[in-house]
This record gives sequence, structure tokens and C-alpha cells, in this order.
Amino acid sequence: MFGWLRGAGGSRTVAIDERLWREGTAPWLFMRGLGAEEEARLKATCERFLARKRFSGAHGLEVTDLMQVEIAAQAAILVLELGDDWYEGWSEVIVYPSQFVPEREVVDEAGVVHLTRDPMAGEAWLGGPVILSYEDVLLAGDEAQRVAGYNVVIHEFAHKLDMRNGDANGFPPLHADMPVAEWRRAFAEAYADFVARVEAAERLPAARAQAALDALPLDPYAAESPGEFFAVASEAFFETPEALAGAYAAVYGQMRRFYRQDPLARLGRA
Ligand SMILES: [Zn+2]
Repeated sequence: MFGWLRGAGGSRTVAIDERLWREGTAPWLFMRGLGAEEEARLKATCERFLARKRFSGAHGLEVTDLMQVEIAAQAAILVLELGDDWYEGWSEVIVYPSQFVPEREVVDEAGVVHLTRDPMAGEAWLGGPVILSYEDVLLAGDEAQRVAGYNVVIHEFAHKLDMRNGDANGFPPLHADMPVAEWRRAFAEAYADFVARVEAAERLPAARAQAALDALPLDPYAAESPGEFFAVASEAFFETPEALAGAYAAVYGQMRRFYRQDPLARLGRA
């Protein structure tokens, strides 16, 4: 169980006991090579996150302390060197037991309104909640089922960072020492290359197409839009940095400056 404490100045903080912390962080690839000092700050970031955000279960799901730590630790790794402010302005994390199917009205080019029901693993709303399928949360930690680099929590919280300056378009607010042109060039070149590689894979005969898609350095979903490319590249940055840096070194370099972390160097120490 969490200990609920009253911090100095009356703010509520949460204390995660060591056993729960170990259990809640053991599955995640991004923990590899994290130093003791970094891990202590990650835990403190996680505790502040839990004190500030409200978790709700959908479809009768009880969101246990362990589930909250599992999700919060992954959210916390993104802002470890950025600060809690990056997650300000919204308050709720909604967890579904498995993929959820929101009903959406979509207007097509002919002006006809369609009702869509596409199953989703996660969603991040501008100024609103983060919504997650817990079954998909676990996929990032399941050694047997793990698709390396797939991490729905990192994905949705990367969208949240991107949304600090409006829509999730792959262009989050950059730090003052980061030239905008460098970011744009690195991402535009990588995105164009990746879209071309996905399209080339999809043109192959069906029997070979899937293997070609699986061999790509990023989840093919990154080709959906520059916003999705940033979110998927963020998953890879923390989970499979060797794949991202190997394929798109300039993007890795920009992300290292943006997140102020170097997961590839951590991996070398692990
Ligand atoms: Zn997305």
C-alpha cells in the first residue's frame, strides 16, 4: 500500500515502499543502466506524479497500487530531467482492462458523417486525460510477448509533452539551447525516409511484407504522421535506443537534448 503523507507546505505526497517500487519497475526495459541516484529521483518523480494525478478504472477495473506504480514510473522517465511542470494542466489517468473502442464521428470528403469504432491501446487528450489499455501496458514488460520498443505508456505521455504547445504534431516546446531548424531537419528527413521504407515494405508480396515491416527500426505506426513519429521514436529512445540511434542518429541526438538523457550510454553501462 502507499503511505499517504502530508508534505511540507500542506501538499500531499505519496510514499512508495521499496518492495512495491521494485515490483512496479522490474519489467521495464528503460530501467537498464539507471544509476542509484537517477533511480531515487525517478521514484521521487513517480511519488509526486501519484499525488497529483487521479487514476480511474473503466469497465469495473480496479486500478491497484502496483498498476499505478507501473504506469507512473513509465510516465516519470520522460520528465526525469525536465520537471513535473511538463505534466501540468490535466489530472486524470483512465485505465481500461484491454483495448477500448471509442465511438467517433468522422466527416469524410463528401461531407458524410461516419461513426467509427476502432479499438485503441491508448489515447492522450489535449488538456484532458491519458487513457490506457492495461493489457497493452503489460505488453512492454512481458518478456515472452514483448515487441521490443513497444510501450503504450511512453507513447501517450510523449504526446502529452508534444501537446504542451498545442496539437500533437511532433514539435514539442524545445529548450532555449535547441535550434528549431536542427530539430525540424532531423525529424523531417527521418520521417520521409521511414514513410518510404514502410511503403516499400507494404508493396512487397503479402508473404514477405510482414517480415519487412518487422525488420524496420521503429513500429510502422510511426509513419502515420509526424506526431506519431515523435511518440513512437520516444518509445524507441527509452526502450531500444540502439535501434533508434543506429537508424536515425540525428533524431536520437535531438531527443537526447530534448529529454536531457542518454539511454544509449546507460545501456552501455548496464
Ligand atoms: Zn499516438
